[in-house]
Order: sequence, then structure tokens, then C-alpha cells
Amino acid sequence: MKILHSTNEIIKIRQKIADQVGFVPTMGNLHVGHRSLITRSVHENKITVVSIFVNKLQFNKAEDFEKYPKTLEEDLKLCEEIGVDYVFIPQDDDIHRNKHFIVESNHPTLKMMEGKYRQGHFTGVLTVVLKLLQLAQPHKAYFGEKDYQQLLLVREMAKAFFLNCEIVPCETIRIASGVPYSSRNSRLNVEEMKIAEDVIKLFHGANDVEEKRELISKVKGITLEYLEAHEGREFIAFVIKGVRLIDNIKLN
Ligand code: AMP
Repeated sequence: MKILHSTNEIIKIRQKIADQVGFVPTMGNLHVGHRSLITRSVHENKITVVSIFVNKLQFNKAEDFEKYPKTLEEDLKLCEEIGVDYVFIPQDDDIHRNKHFIVESNHPTLKMMEGKYRQGHFTGVLTVVLKLLQLAQPHKAYFGEKDYQQLLLVREMAKAFFLNCEIVPCETIRIASGVPYSSRNSRLNVEEMKIAEDVIKLFHGANDVEEKRELISKVKGITLEYLEAHEGREFIAFVIKGVRLIDNIKLN
């Protein structure tokens, strides 16, 4: 496994690769959810590139960016174990050496849920994902359904800009309690995690959005940001002690 630290390095290396390339963009602090994306890429492609880049542009709260957990040593061990070929760890001023261009979208998805509650978030996501896709030039790129709006927007962007890359959706991986794995979970203590479990159980168990909203709004210690149904899926965002968690499920 090789570690690439600069955009120049990845451009040079990528030019020499003739095999099929799979790519998994991450912000590090890798967990079981990330592991499933990376494992899938390793199985489906000859070469797998993982990027670890905490994208400042997509954080609407400075505190969230500063508190983002960093576990580079463990992350590299996990990538090596799974069989990753290249880990790309760029610096912020290298990725953003030219700040004059960003990806703005007026896609309807941007007006709702994450787009509504996190102003500027998707501009930050799309801008960085486009740069990473241009650098890695993958045949397939893997994104989690946990961040469903992100997955949808990335797929639409790839089509809009004629990127020669398949965006592969990957199912949400959950802890036994039903809570999706997330880097933010480590900021919750045992009691707070129990509250998250209660909310997720109601989100998955109750009948419809109205009943879910009624039951979840009674749970102590949370602020419910949204609970909405769109196109055969239900989506939730809630905050426990300043830690914001999201989930979504497909309706049958
Ligand atoms: P992040 O490091 O949070 O930017 O996530 C990197 C990728 O992993 C994104 O495509 C996420 O949607 C995906 N991901 C994060 N958590 C999970 C999970 N629990 N299950 C499946 N995919 C996930």
C-alpha cells in the first residue's frame, strides 16, 4: 500500500495505472461502515484508492470541523488489512490551491433536509468530490446510502459533468442496536448513545412519519431537526448534546 500526500503525486501515479480503479472518498476515522465500502471496492476493482480528507468546506459549524476525530494510524492499518493499493491524504491548501471555482447546484434536493439545515454543506461536498474524482479518475466510486442526499447529488453531478465514473450506492451498516455507524457516535457517552438507540428504534419501528414524529418528539434529551418522507424513503436528523445524527430507510 502506498500513501500519496500531494495532488501532483496522485496525478502522476494515476497516469501509469491501466487497470480498473475503484475509489472510496472518506474523512477518515474509519469504522465498519467505511470498511464495507472499501471491501466492496477491493472486490470489484483491480486497484482501490481511498482518500482521507476532512473537508473543511462542508462543515457549516467550525466546532464540528475542529472536533472531527482523527485516527490516521488506525485508518492506515485498516486500509492495509483490507487490501487498499493507494491512500490519498492531501493537504487543504493543495486541494484548494485555486479557490475561484466551486460547484453550485440548484437541484431540488438541495432545498430540503441536509441542504436546508446545513447551509453551504452540499456546495462544499460537491466541490471537493468533483476535485477528488478528477484526481483519482476512478471507474467506480463508492458512496454510502447513510448520506442519501449526498449520494443522489454526487450521482447527478457525475451525470451532469459527463464524468466517466459509476457512482455505486452502498447500504447503511448499523451497530446491533440499529444505530448507523458514524464518526460522530464516538462523541456520545453511554447514556447519550442509549437515547440515540431509542430514537432509531422508533424511527424504524413506528408506522408512519406522523406517528414517528409524535413518539420521537417525546424522547428526552434530543432535538428533532426533521423527519420527512420523500420518494419511498423516510429521513431523520436529530441532535443529542450538540451531536447531530442522521438516518434514512427505504419504505416497502
Ligand atoms: P465520511 O467519512 O463520513 O465522509 O463517509 C465516507 C463514506 O462512507 C460516505 O460515502 C458515507 O456515506 C459512507 N458511510 C458513512 N457511514 C456509513 C455507514 N454506517 N454505512 C455505510 N456507509 C457509510
